[in-house]
This record gives sequence, structure tokens and C-alpha cells, in this order.
Amino acid sequence: MEKQLKILKDEIQTSLAQVKDKDTLEAIRIKYLGRKGKINSLFKEIAGLPLEQKKIFGNNINMLKNELSQELNSRLNSFKTKTTTEIDLLLPGKVPHIGHLHPLSKTFNELITFFTNFGFSVATGPEVEYDWYNFEALNMAKDHPARDMFSSFYIKKDLLLRSHTSPTQIRVMEKQKPPIKIICPGRCYRYDAFDASHAPVFHQIEALYVDEGVCFGELKWLLGEFVKFLFGPKTKYELRPSFFPFTEPSGELAISCTICDGAGCAVCGKTGWLELGGCGMVHPQVLKNVKISPKKYSGYALGMGVERIAMIKYVIDDIRVFFNNDIRFLEQF
Ligand SMILES: [Zn+2]
Repeated sequence: MEKQLKILKDEIQTSLAQVKDKDTLEAIRIKYLGRKGKINSLFKEIAGLPLEQKKIFGNNINMLKNELSQELNSRLNSFKTKTTTEIDLLLPGKVPHIGHLHPLSKTFNELITFFTNFGFSVATGPEVEYDWYNFEALNMAKDHPARDMFSSFYIKKDLLLRSHTSPTQIRVMEKQKPPIKIICPGRCYRYDAFDASHAPVFHQIEALYVDEGVCFGELKWLLGEFVKFLFGPKTKYELRPSFFPFTEPSGELAISCTICDGAGCAVCGKTGWLELGGCGMVHPQVLKNVKISPKKYSGYALGMGVERIAMIKYVIDDIRVFFNNDIRFLEQF
């Protein structure tokens, strides 16, 4: 009997050493601990033994049974833990957080796409500018009252942070002879209060076309195409008389309100119209200032605030949201 027990123990050890998975574990349980298993049949064999030996072997078989049962349970548990740390290729992956362009960059890209499609090329200039380029060459002498509108940040006498992108037009016209067909996108600075419609740093885009025989009709046509491209074919537009020292005649471009369709709402101040920007024919004095003959050449110029366009396009009522970097706002674009 003792020998049989020893053989069975060895057999169990060999079987346990070969366990690879839960199925082989279960096979061992059935083989040794099952109702018709080897341990139970050993119990049957001790029935014919004398009482003393029955007790001793009965105890030993019980111990073997308990040990094996515990061993099988702990191995089963270790398989369960392993399973949870295994990689499940069928689980959906974690979506990485992907960034995107800022709404102002998107608007810039759209504007640049429109103008380059019509043959304009992109020109850039310095953000720290001489008084000459920012004002004087643009027909605003030192004592010109229109300078007040530009609320400029001066660094020192005759040097300032440009308050519009027009100085780039002067820089290009000084170097290049007509035909000139450029757009000047860029950052501008004014000491306006930081409120819902003003920011001390903002963006503009301007277009300039100078050549022989350029007329106001061409400008009006281009503005029509511009409005259709940016706000859809149903949007109406009108040109209103205006004044800028560097254009003559000057106009203001307005479009039918994209929110209320011209019926009148809070965004358009119940007028049904939204102002987009200024335009006009380049003033003859500006051409003279850059040594282009106004007798031979003429040109048109137009300019607008990029924030203003983005606010109308995306129905945003506060310019500050572009600069607050609140991810909840930016994620919407
Ligand atoms: Zn409206």
C-alpha cells in the first residue's frame, strides 16, 4: 500500500511538471481527484486493511488529496492572472489625441488660396517698421489726423510696431516695377483695449494690384468672387463710399448677414449687413512716393482683418477666444 502511494505521488509530480494550460490542469484534476479518479480508487483499496493501517493510509491519502487540490487551485489562479495581462488584439485601440490648425490659420489658408488662384503672390515684411512705410509713404504726413485711428505702439521716434500690413505694399512697390500683384498677410499691433471686438495683436491680409489700366470695376468684380468663395454664392455684397488717406476713391465692403440672411439679428446689429473691410484705388500720391508714375499706372488695394472674417465665418462673438488657447474652444474646428 505504501509503495502504491509512493508511485501515485511520483506520477502526480510528473504530470504537474508537464502542465501547460488550463486544459491539462483540468485533465489532471479528473484523472486523480475525479469520482472515478486514482485517489478515490486508492480509498477503496484500503477497505480490506486492518483498522490501524486503515487509519494511517486513510490519513496519508487524504493529505495527498488536499495537497493536490490546493496545488491545482493555485495553478489555475495563476493562469487567470496571466490571461488578464495578455494582449487582446481584438480590443479597440486607444485613439491618440491629434492636433489641428488654429481657426485663424485655417482662415488665413483659405484667404491665401483664393488670392493665389487669381494670380496674386504672397509678400511679407517686418513687424517693426519705420514711420515712413507705416504712414508717410501711405499719404499720412507726420501731422495727419488719420494717424490717430491707428493707435500705434512706438518703439522710438520713427520706429513702431506696424499698425497695418500696408507697409509691405510700399516695400514691394519700391523694389518692383508694375505689374505688381501681391497679397500681404501678417500680424499687426495697436494699443486698443482687449475687449470683445479689439485685440492689441491681430492679423490682416491686404491685396494690391498695380498695372496699366487697372480700374475700379476689376476691384468690384474680384470682391464679388471673394464673397462667393468665402461665404457661398447666395451671399449679397455692396460697396459703400468710405475714406482712407491711401486710396481714392475708397470703399467699404459689406455682405448680407450670414446668420439672419439680411433680416436683421444681434450679430449684424439688426441692419442685415456685416462690414468686411476697406478697399479703393491706390492714391496717386502713394504711387509717386514709390516712384511709379500715376499717369501711366493705376492700381487697386483692399484689406481686411482676418479675425473679423473668422468671426463671421464661424459665428464667434468675441475676438479674445482666438488668443485664450482654451482647448475646449479650439477643438471645435
Ligand atoms: Zn444678422
